[in-house]
Amino acid sequence: MEDKLKEIVESFLSTQSRITFLTGAGISAESNIPTFRGPEGYWKVGSNNFHPQEMATYQMFRQRPEEVWTWYLYRMGVCKKAMPNSGHLALVAFEQMFGDRFTLITQNVDSLHLHAGNSPERTRQIHGNIFFMRCVSECRNSVYPLPSEIEAKKRGDSLTEKDRSLLKCPDCAGPVRPHVLWFDESYNEHHYRLYSSLQAASETGLLVVAGTSGATNLPNQIVSEVFRNSKPIIDINIEQSPFSIPAAKSGGLFMKETSTSGLNKLLKTFQELI
Ligand SMILES: [Zn+2]
Repeated sequence: MEDKLKEIVESFLSTQSRITFLTGAGISAESNIPTFRGPEGYWKVGSNNFHPQEMATYQMFRQRPEEVWTWYLYRMGVCKKAMPNSGHLALVAFEQMFGDRFTLITQNVDSLHLHAGNSPERTRQIHGNIFFMRCVSECRNSVYPLPSEIEAKKRGDSLTEKDRSLLKCPDCAGPVRPHVLWFDESYNEHHYRLYSSLQAASETGLLVVAGTSGATNLPNQIVSEVFRNSKPIIDINIEQSPFSIPAAKSGGLFMKETSTSGLNKLLKTFQELI
């Protein structure tokens, strides 16, 4: 594997092309953030236990906005306690190494990449950011940080009067929603950087995928685009994913590793060869 990795990195460094990273829940899991698609994501409302794929929908928000907000404020609390890990730091080192040739596309809403030090300009948060909110009626198309006074929730909590007064659009005082992409919604450029992510994929000379199993549509499109352009893909994952075979066929590599270990091996190879 090491020879192959060297060969890919050497060949990439002989060009002046761009490098793109795509990260998913695996890298956050190493900072103790559960995927929320697993058992940790279940949420009790009354006597019903809802699956995350039911909670994280616009339909549920329409029906039970307070329960959906409580669930998000619980998840926000989990994300707030988490610290970036050495995989996140490796990505900061890659951004320093490549500057404007670097793009980071992340499915994670936990802000850990920004917290670690990646720049907002080169980071595409394609599923949003749990520390932000926006107006339900999109009166201004703006995104606002959650008010600092708002407190995280525990299981069994509900919204307080104070929460209700804080969860209002700063412009029109109407209801706000979490700034995240829900399962029954579509990607767009304004909030989720759909086109700029696909453009980064079409221009990249190397794609590195870390900790994502490719369950959602845009990551699939990104990998397919790079594959179509015959550019190498490195897939770092603890188990085979739908990206592992395209990665091997693209002249790239499947690294059966955790995100932190794989990204640091890759970083070390770049540092030795640059
Ligand atoms: Zn508004």
